[in-house]
Amino acid sequence: CSRNPDEAEFHQVVKEIFDSLVPVIAQHPEYMKESILERIVEPERLITFRVPWVDDKGHIHVNRGYRVQFNSAIGPYKGGLRFHPSVNPSVVKFLGFEQIFKNSLTGQPIGGGKGGADFDPKGKSDAEIMRFSQSFMHELGQHIGPDIDIPAGDIGVGPREIGYMFGQYKKMHGRFEAGTITGKGLDYGGSLVRKEATGYGTIYFVEKMLEKQGVNFKDQTVAVSGSGNVSIYAIEKAQDLGAKVITCSDSDGYIYDEKGIDVETVKRLKEVERRRIEDYLEEHPHAKYYDTPTDVWTIPCTVALPCATQQEIDDETANLLIKNGVIAVGEGANMPTSLEAINTFKKNNVHFAPAKAANAGGVAVSSLEMAQNNMGFSWSFEEVDGRLREIMKNIYDNSSEAAEKYGYAGDLVIGANISGFLKVADAMVAQGVV
Ligand code: NDP
Repeated sequence: CSRNPDEAEFHQVVKEIFDSLVPVIAQHPEYMKESILERIVEPERLITFRVPWVDDKGHIHVNRGYRVQFNSAIGPYKGGLRFHPSVNPSVVKFLGFEQIFKNSLTGQPIGGGKGGADFDPKGKSDAEIMRFSQSFMHELGQHIGPDIDIPAGDIGVGPREIGYMFGQYKKMHGRFEAGTITGKGLDYGGSLVRKEATGYGTIYFVEKMLEKQGVNFKDQTVAVSGSGNVSIYAIEKAQDLGAKVITCSDSDGYIYDEKGIDVETVKRLKEVERRRIEDYLEEHPHAKYYDTPTDVWTIPCTVALPCATQQEIDDETANLLIKNGVIAVGEGANMPTSLEAINTFKKNNVHFAPAKAANAGGVAVSSLEMAQNNMGFSWSFEEVDGRLREIMKNIYDNSSEAAEKYGYAGDLVIGANISGFLKVADAMVAQGVV
């Protein structure tokens, strides 16, 4: 902690991962000898830069941009970009550290990275978003490339922002390098299913986790938080599989629709018209809206899917969910559940799907996008979706087997950490002290 003061999010993720590696270190003294933990926790590089931009009234603003290139032991750095006022070195490092293990779990050859800026896209015009994205890429573009570091989207960075950044990168370098950023539009090197991948993948993972317990996903009542990229496609796939989804939210409030959320309305409001979730009531007046987003977890459900942001479920909320009958929790977002809450779920036999495993579908399909870019052709929706489903199944099996092997059968938090760690640690040992 003294090396990284005031980095609460980073401390939480490091503690969670290192605690779960205790049985591995006990059986593999070579990792201690090689100081793998000391090395893996220090980013290979943290880039911080100025992002100046001009608003529509001609006023100049300055934001701060970041890219953490955390670990390249098993492949080029890969991870999303987040545009949100809360972005700071602690948040970027927590996300980047988590990404190392998540990317390893996918079985794809990708290292860990993450980035973003403390920029608030809310209320900005398209032209302002374009000027900001271009200025951001003007600096970031000097540090990335298809074999170096391949960014993607995250909170506040969707297809629109990716398009502006790709355009700027292309102009800077004077060549069309599709494999330099993922989440691109389908007309210029994007992959089918990338948009849906994180949400769909979360559902595939939770479905598999429940199936192992003999529980059918289609019988579940599901509460989802958020109404962004992950939430929308988690809702869509949960409904495809026959479950009933009754909530969604944004940072202003949440919707409770006892008849089941109409996902097409949410898509239109959020993806096309960029409006607030409260406006859902215009078409669905029977639904209820509450302006307290974190209270979404007071609605009784059997499966809870936090898909909005970090720190959504604390211990008190976990206890309330349990009292209301939750049997499974799947983290679509990164670190939405506190360590205390995770322990409470475990103690009460709630099946818990941790983010690094459950939401790895996004980066997995990003890697498939890179593969298609390298080969110069595109797979069909069914082909990519099938591969995604297979990857999520493998992540579940590998996490489950690792947990069992090291004496924590059924604990997917520990199993995912161990499974993700081993491959990276072995690659670091093989490559020497660099
Ligand atoms: P988006 O920006 O598309 O959506 C985020 C959603 O969460 C928005 O609806 C936003 O509302 C809402 N939200 C933000 N803060 C709060 C809050 N305090 N309370 C309630 N709702 C809130 O982001 P994504 O869907 O892409 O990402 C969501 C999470 O998933 C993040 O943790 C991200 O790191 C993680 N993730 C995303 C991946 C991807 O492929 N996109 C991959 C893996 C993980 P508002 O519009 O009001 O801001």
